[in-house]
Amino acid sequence: MSQTIVVKIGTSSLTQPDTGYLALATIAQVVDALSRLQRQGHQVILVSSGAVGVGCMRLGLTERPRTISMKQAVAAVGQGRLMRIYDDLFTALQQPIAQVLLTRSDLVQRSRYVNAYRTFRQLLKLGVIPIVNENDTLAVEELKFGDNDTLSALVASLVEADWLFLLTDVDRLYSADPRYDPNAQPIERVNQIDELTALNVEVGDRGTSWGTGGMVTKISAARIATAAGVRTVIMEGKSPHNIEKILQGESIGTRFEPQPSSFNARQRWIAHGLVPAGKLYLDAGAVKAIQQSGKSLLAAGITEVEGEFQSQDAVQLCDPIGQEIARGIVNYSSLELQKIRGHHSEEILQILGYDGAETVVHRDNLVLSI
Ligand code: GLU
Repeated sequence: MSQTIVVKIGTSSLTQPDTGYLALATIAQVVDALSRLQRQGHQVILVSSGAVGVGCMRLGLTERPRTISMKQAVAAVGQGRLMRIYDDLFTALQQPIAQVLLTRSDLVQRSRYVNAYRTFRQLLKLGVIPIVNENDTLAVEELKFGDNDTLSALVASLVEADWLFLLTDVDRLYSADPRYDPNAQPIERVNQIDELTALNVEVGDRGTSWGTGGMVTKISAARIATAAGVRTVIMEGKSPHNIEKILQGESIGTRFEPQPSSFNARQRWIAHGLVPAGKLYLDAGAVKAIQQSGKSLLAAGITEVEGEFQSQDAVQLCDPIGQEIARGIVNYSSLELQKIRGHHSEEILQILGYDGAETVVHRDNLVLSI
């Protein structure tokens, strides 16, 4: 059966740790493995880091750039070189590719989110493997994906992928960092991310000097992807042909099961496209009504308002201790909510001097967090 597969490879797998040069053998294997999957009828997207790393190499820099403008300039140099290498290798196997550079803001507006979805789907229909990276040259610091683990999870959610493979430099997730702790236990399967807390998984984020991701970002990527119904695997980048074996049912790497999700396309955009501009703290009654009874959020249940936002912005809905329980699109600005929080809906007209929506976040615009 044809599956939509997103594969993420990071700078630590793409470059040689000792010299910083490209790990050509690994890249060639990834290209070969993905081309094979495509020929088998699967729809494949590659999320590849490396723009900054390759740019540094091209310019003879020995350290990752420190200033934002330098990093953005270096990424512009590296992204083109990176694509050239991919194109040479994929062309040898007659596999067309495309470059898709995304910024976080491309997903915030519903029309642009839908547009990105359609473009990906069109590319996949054409038999092309899109190669995605963050548009590092133009992204602004306040609105960034930050790391490509997160980017790949959001892309997997956007395109309604079946699988997300996070390729890294360890063979799977361990209960502790196996490079430092001899007692680290391998974890093969995770049915729910919260199991990891119970297993006492220490997900220390040491990362590498070039890439920005560590296990923490991989687990948080798995949380995003599995919430959108995408099965997620953390596996070793050196053996990309294992992807095919995993699709055939072999247990390799760490597999995160998709959550039984009833997210529709609009809800996926609310959960994964929008960037929350504020937080609403709710009382216990409102938390229960939203989590268990499928209710909308009313002003009466709000105890505190954090951040500055306008009506129709996204906000996080939090329980009394600040844990996010849902997010959604708000019908009032933060200024208005400061005035009406804790009040019954019938009082809104009197307090504000005009009539507003009955709900603060309507159920149709609200998505529960997992
Ligand atoms: N987008 C960055 C690059 O291509 C990498 C981000 C990451 O390491 O996750 O260099």
